[in-house]
Amino acid sequence: MSERNDDAERPPGVVGVVGAGTMGVGITQCLAEAGYPVVVVDDDPGALAAGPRRLRDALRTRLLAGSGAGRSRPADATGEVVWTDRLADLSGAGFVIECAFERVPVKRAVLAGLDEVCPPPTVFASCTSAIPVTRLASFTGRADRMIGMHFMNPAPLKPTVEVVRAPTTSQPTVDRALALLASLGKSGVVVGDAPGFVSNRVLMLTVNEAARVVEEGTADADAVDQIFRECFGHPMGPLRTADLIGLDTIRDSLLVLLEHTGDDRFTPCRLLDDLVGQGALGRKAGKGFHDHPAPR
Ligand code: NAD
Repeated sequence: MSERNDDAERPPGVVGVVGAGTMGVGITQCLAEAGYPVVVVDDDPGALAAGPRRLRDALRTRLLAGSGAGRSRPADATGEVVWTDRLADLSGAGFVIECAFERVPVKRAVLAGLDEVCPPPTVFASCTSAIPVTRLASFTGRADRMIGMHFMNPAPLKPTVEVVRAPTTSQPTVDRALALLASLGKSGVVVGDAPGFVSNRVLMLTVNEAARVVEEGTADADAVDQIFRECFGHPMGPLRTADLIGLDTIRDSLLVLLEHTGDDRFTPCRLLDDLVGQGALGRKAGKGFHDHPAPR
């Protein structure tokens, strides 16, 4: 391995984020608050236009709530974020976090493009929900510098990140990912590489099954979530969690799990298909399993 042992000590400088959606903006907020210069790339003009406003609103909310105290610089953090539609603008990034759609062809194109524009030492992390990191690494010429960093949603409020180490991921890359997380005030739990890792192998099945219960008329979405909250002490039921994640992302993740495991339990249920088909994508659309009065 050509990497030096002191790689983990080296601050990444500019951090790149690909995808200005739910996760990309949340992760950008974490990075900006920690003082990193960030370059965010998105190929959708609508997402690029909405991103700065969503970031500004989130930083302002945090400032008012006082929840970013200690390490954040919420007042001026937006000024250090560059928004662009050009992957080539990541040529100076030391660390890139990919947060594009949960579809293999999309991630393949992004990672292959990054591999061309970023210098060899740059680490690529993917926020994928379910795609094996080994597969993502195969789209690059730097499998040792590819890792999974599965932030949870909303990223600024979640203290722990599922860090996915593929067999090809080098120890210095794991160290650099954990060091970056530590600088954001977060910790990482390192797990092995498998479809859905730990979190979504379990969660996606739970969401699909909960949706099936509603589809079959056994209970409505409120009752399902109430049982998980009040009987099991979960802060949120599985269907409200699904709305928060985005039903399109849930469906895409189930299809990835189905493709990589061949296990029919991961086939998205009809109700999920129908809601996605109707554009009822959850919180971001104002409607999903539940109504959300303030869509973002
Ligand atoms: P999203 O749909 O909110 O945003 C994805 C963004 O990626 C969009 O703005 C889109 O325009 C952009 N994009 C797509 N293709 C692109 C390309 N070729 N180049 C540049 N930008 C591109 O999705 P999200 O919920 O933020 O999810 C992003 C990733 O994070 C997915 O892999 C998802 O599985 C994962 N994830 C999501 C959640 C969640 O709760 N939503 C949690 C953890 C991980």
